[in-house]
Amino acid sequence: MFLKRLELQGFKSFADKITLDLDGNIIAVVGPNGSGKSNITDALRWILGERDAKNLRSGRAEDLIFAGTQNKSRAGLAQATLFFDNSTGFFPVDFNEVSVSRRISRDGTTQVFLNKSEVRLKDIIDFFAKSRLGARGLTTVNQGESDIFIRSLPMERRVMIEEILGLKEFRLKKAEAERRLKNSEDNLEKAAALIEEIKPHLSFLRRQVTRYRNREAIMQSLTELEDRFYGGQVWSINRELSELEKERQEVEREISLKKEEERTSEEELIRIKNSEPAAAESLKFIKLRKDDLLAKKGELQKELGRIEARLEIGARQGGVDVVRLKEIVAEAKRLIGEALREEDFAAVRGKLESLSELFRETDERREEIPDTGEERRLIAEKIAELEKGMAELEKDEEGFSSGIRDFNEKFRQAFLTLEGKKRETEAFIQRLNRLLLNKERLEFRLQEIARELSEAGRSIGEVKEGVGSFPEEEREAVKRQILRYRQELASIGDIDQGTVKEAEETEARHEFLVSQVSDLEKSIADLKTLIKELDGQIHENFSAAFKSINEEFDKFMKIMFDGGSGRLSMEKVETGLGENGAAEADRVPGVEIDIDLPRKRIKNLEALSGGEKSLVSIAALFALISVSPPPFLVLDEIDATLDERNARRLGEMIKKFARKTQFIIVTHNRAVMEAADILYGVTMTPEGASRILSLKLSPEGQTSAKL
Ligand code: ATP
Repeated sequence: MFLKRLELQGFKSFADKITLDLDGNIIAVVGPNGSGKSNITDALRWILGERDAKNLRSGRAEDLIFAGTQNKSRAGLAQATLFFDNSTGFFPVDFNEVSVSRRISRDGTTQVFLNKSEVRLKDIIDFFAKSRLGARGLTTVNQGESDIFIRSLPMERRVMIEEILGLKEFRLKKAEAERRLKNSEDNLEKAAALIEEIKPHLSFLRRQVTRYRNREAIMQSLTELEDRFYGGQVWSINRELSELEKERQEVEREISLKKEEERTSEEELIRIKNSEPAAAESLKFIKLRKDDLLAKKGELQKELGRIEARLEIGARQGGVDVVRLKEIVAEAKRLIGEALREEDFAAVRGKLESLSELFRETDERREEIPDTGEERRLIAEKIAELEKGMAELEKDEEGFSSGIRDFNEKFRQAFLTLEGKKRETEAFIQRLNRLLLNKERLEFRLQEIARELSEAGRSIGEVKEGVGSFPEEEREAVKRQILRYRQELASIGDIDQGTVKEAEETEARHEFLVSQVSDLEKSIADLKTLIKELDGQIHENFSAAFKSINEEFDKFMKIMFDGGSGRLSMEKVETGLGENGAAEADRVPGVEIDIDLPRKRIKNLEALSGGEKSLVSIAALFALISVSPPPFLVLDEIDATLDERNARRLGEMIKKFARKTQFIIVTHNRAVMEAADILYGVTMTPEGASRILSLKLSPEGQTSAKL
C-alpha cells in the first residue's frame, strides 16, 4: 500500500490527534453529514501542496485550525502528516518511508516538513510533481466536483490530464523557465536601458580621460624637455660658477698677495722718503750760503769794479792815486772781510783775482803807491782760506748732491715699484670685478630659470642637471616647443581626480552591464531552448498518451452509458501569437469533449443531467488512470449523483483499478462502501470535534464499529 497513514491534529474539526491507518487498497470514509469526512480529503489536498484556501473550503488559511466550540477550546495550530511507503522507491529518495507534514499557526506561519526536515512549500510541490502527484487535477476529486472534468475549461482539462500523465513536472519546469525568461528579459531591458543611459556620460568621461592621458604624455614630454633644456643650462651655469669661484679664490689670493707686496713697496718708499731730510737740508743750507755769498760777492765785485775803475782812471791820469788806492784797498779789505765772514768764496775768489791783478799792477808802481804789503798778505791768506773754504764747500756740495741723486733714484725706483704693484693689484681687482660681474650674471640667469620654472609649477631642484643640453642655435626652437606644450596643458586643464574616479567607476559599471547583457542574452537563448525542449517533451508525451486516453474514454463511456461514444479532441487554437516561450504556452491547445449518448441527441455537455455529467467525468477519469495509473486517488462523494446501478458500476471499476491505484473514497453509497477493504466512520463528538471509528462491514450489510 502506497499511503500508510494519515495523522491530523488541530486540523479543521479534528481537534484531537487522530491517526488514520490506510492499510488497504480501497478505503472508504463514511459518516453523517457534517461529521468531518471531507475535512480528511482537505487535509490530503493540503499536504499535497494546495495553496488556495478556497480549494480547501476555507476563507483564510487560519480557518484550517480547529476553531473551538462551546465545550472545547480552540487549537493553536493545525498539523497534518501523510506517511508513504517508499519501499518500491516511488519517490527518488533514500528512505523506505516518506512522511510529508504541513503545519499552520494562528499567526499565519506555515511550515512544511519532508521526513521531519523543514523544506519550502515549493520544494514539496516539486517533489510530488516529479512523482506525478499534485493537489490539482484528478488525483483528488472534491465533493461536488464529480463532474469537474466536464465543468472545466478545455485548458483546465488539459492540466488535469497532464498532471495524471506526470507532465506537471515539465509544466513546472517550463513555468519556472518562463518566469526566469521573463526575469531575464526584464533585466536585459533594464541593463540595455542603463547602458543607453550611461553611454553619453561615459563617452564624455572617456574623452576626458583621453585628454588626461594626452595631458600626461604632454606633461612627460614637457618635463623631459624642461629637464634637458633647463637642466643643461643649470648644469653649465653651475659648472661655470664653480670654475669662476675657483678663479675668484685664486684672484683674491693674488690680490691679497699683491696688496702685501704693495704694502711692502709702500713701506720701502716711506723708508726711502724718510731718509731724505738730512742731505737735502744740508744741501739747502749750502745753497742758501752759496746764494748769500754770491750776493755779497756781487756787491764786492761791484765795489772792486768801482775801485778798479778809479785806479784805471788814476793810472790814465798819470799815476796811481795812492790815496784812492788806499781807499780801494781799505774798501777791498772790508769787502773781503765781509765776504769771508759770509763765506762767499767764489765771489771772494773772483774779486781777489781782480784785486791781485790790480795789486800786481800797483806793485809794479810800488814806489808810487803806499806800501800795502801787510794788507795784501793778509788778503792773500784770507784768499787762500777762502779758496780752501770754497773748495770744501763745493766738495760738501758735491757730496750732498750725489747723495741726493742716489736718494732720488732710489725714491724714483721705489715709487715706480709701488706704482707697478698698484697697477698689478688694480689689474687683479679688475679681473675680480669682472669675475663677480660674471658671477652675478650667471646667478641672475639661474634666478631667471628658477622663475620660469616656478611659473610652470616646478622648482630648479627638480630638473635633472646635465641631462644633456641643447646647442645654442636650437634653444629658441626648444623654448617655443616648451611654451606650446604649456599652452596645450593649460587648454586641457588640471586633472580632476573625481572625474578620473568617476570614469573608472562608470567604465566598470558599463563593463558589468555589457557582460550582464551578454550573460542575459545567453541565458535567454538557453531558456528559450529549454522551454522549446520542455514543450517538445510535453507535446510528445501528451500526444502519445492522448490517443490511448481517447480509446479508453470511448470504452468507459460505452460501459457507463451502456452504449454511446465519447471522444476527447485537442482544441483548435490560433497560432503565431508570439515567438517566446510564454506566448507559446498560450498556444497550447486545451481538451474538448465530444460525446454521443445512446438514445439521445444531446451534444451540449451543459444540457446533461447531474448524474450524466458525473458519469462522463468518471469515464474520463478512468480513461486517464488506465493509461497512467496514479499510486492513489482521493474521491470525495463522486458517487453522490449516481443511482444505485451506476454506483455499483463505479464500485466495480474501483475494485478493478485498485490493483494499481490505492483509493480513498468518501461516500454515502452502500455499493461503493462494499467495494472497500477498510471502512472508517467519522462522527462528531458532543464537544464538536470529529472522531474516527474503524467499521467492519458484514456481508448482511450490518456494520460494527471498532473504537
Ligand atoms: P457531508 O457528508 O455533509 O459532506 P462531511 O462529513 O463531509 O459532511 P465536513 O465538510 O468534512 O463534513 O465537515 C464539516 C464540519 O467541520 C462542520 O461541522 C464544520 O463546522 C467543521 N469545521 C470545519 N472547519 C472547522 C474548524 N476550523 N474548526 C472546527 N470545526 C470545523
